Amino acid sequence: MNRDSLLIGGRWVTTSESLEVENPATEDVIAVVGRATPGHVEDAVRAARAAARAWEEAGPQRRADLVAALADRLRDRRAALIDATVAEVGAPVTVAAEAHVDLAIEIVASAAKIGRELATEERLGTSVLVRRPVGVAACITPWNYPLYQLAAKVAPALVAGCPVVVKPAELTPMSAYLLADAVQDVGFPAGVVNLVPGYGTDVGQALVEHPDVDLVSFTGSTRVGRQIAATAGARLARVCLELGGKSASVVCPDADLETAVRATVDSATLNSGQTCSALTRLIVPREAYAAALDVAADHARRIVVGDPGDAATQMGPLISAAQREQVRAAVDGAVARGARLVAGGTVPDGLDRGYFYTPTVLADLDPADSASQDEIFGPVLVVHAARDDEDALAIANGTRYGLAGAVWSGDEERAMRLARRMDTGQVDINGAAFNVDAPFGGWKDSGVGRELGPAGVEEYLEITAVQR
Ligand code: NAP
Ligand code: MG
Repeated sequence: MNRDSLLIGGRWVTTSESLEVENPATEDVIAVVGRATPGHVEDAVRAARAAARAWEEAGPQRRADLVAALADRLRDRRAALIDATVAEVGAPVTVAAEAHVDLAIEIVASAAKIGRELATEERLGTSVLVRRPVGVAACITPWNYPLYQLAAKVAPALVAGCPVVVKPAELTPMSAYLLADAVQDVGFPAGVVNLVPGYGTDVGQALVEHPDVDLVSFTGSTRVGRQIAATAGARLARVCLELGGKSASVVCPDADLETAVRATVDSATLNSGQTCSALTRLIVPREAYAAALDVAADHARRIVVGDPGDAATQMGPLISAAQREQVRAAVDGAVARGARLVAGGTVPDGLDRGYFYTPTVLADLDPADSASQDEIFGPVLVVHAARDDEDALAIANGTRYGLAGAVWSGDEERAMRLARRMDTGQVDINGAAFNVDAPFGGWKDSGVGRELGPAGVEEYLEITAVQR
């Protein structure tokens, strides 16, 4: 891919600055794309502001029609989107298809459906509640699921009536260009969707500081999320922050241990462990600890790591050299503090090029240890033993994060009782499937606000209460 332009005000604007995109499986440069500067941010925000009134007045039906068309145009590009995801993220082709591209398209289609049913006016006693778009939205996304992250912000913003300025992660801009191509095919009004790839520290920062950006929707690290909240807070701009996680998988004594452990290892290693909602802490009954470690180690060792383009591959590389160093340091540090390395902890044999790392299982750590408290964002599972359900719950809730979680039990009511008490945005019981319409987001340091479904659209709406 070679693109030297940015989408601003409905036109491709050429730029002399560029970003090189590396394939993390081969370390080759695979694309050169345009890089925006703060000056482009100024132009993009102005274009979005200029488009705002007409986009609001287009109404929910028209907006939903265009977003539904966007889902169709993305579907036309499915193969190219999968190729781009394999190349820029290093996600295995099966994961790229299902967890990245198909899910993203489903989210866009779902937003269109929600947009059609959007109640812009509602009676409440003597009041009429008028819901209106909040204004210009900046969408700042990470590299782990590039298309999904864009879809989960852009589609709800558009159906709500907000023009967007999109800043994708510098490591993964290719999916964003394909999305912009789909946007142009649909023929959105000029300025409704603007794309300014670039660095977070200049383009991202300029967007967050811009007085004409009414809402910042950010997905990424808790560290940067905190900075964004402070900057946006100074001018009272709205924020929606989807941040990190350290989610627990709680296994009750009456659960099918083997199923629970295998599924938790799969979750911890999906997308090379670079999933914000990954289950990275496995909590099992003390009596089942040894058996759980055996199953986890066996399952981790069986995961096929290698060329993401190969259909048999289950796990590709990490996103970058720096990310692998961070993971390696976290694992080595844990081992130095007395953790037992039950599986992994190495670079796989024969994979010297690319940022590969083996699926890793750590045991015998105190739940207060940093390996069990801090997000590692690599394929690393930490296993703990609990005395009983109360102890398991205390360990599960004992981090500053609260994004996702899981409970496994032969008794669904028992699982439900635990799920109700987990301080986290989502809990899956016995491996229940992801629901694209369920609110997704975090408690505590995992963020502010929710994405997806009706709750995700609500984030982009303001309310005027009219009494009559
Ligand atoms: P990151 O460094 O926080 O970056 C996320 C995005 O913010 C990137 O586009 C980045 O630009 C930009 N950015 C960086 N500094 C900025 C600033 N000062 N002002 C405005 N924008 C700025 O996160 P990452 O390393 O890409 O992603 C990994 C993290 O994201 C993990 O902690 C993970 O848990 C979290 N995450 C959370 C969710 C969720 O839904 N809760 C989903 C996925 C990932 P650059 O590309 O130039 O760095
Ligand atoms: Mg970053």
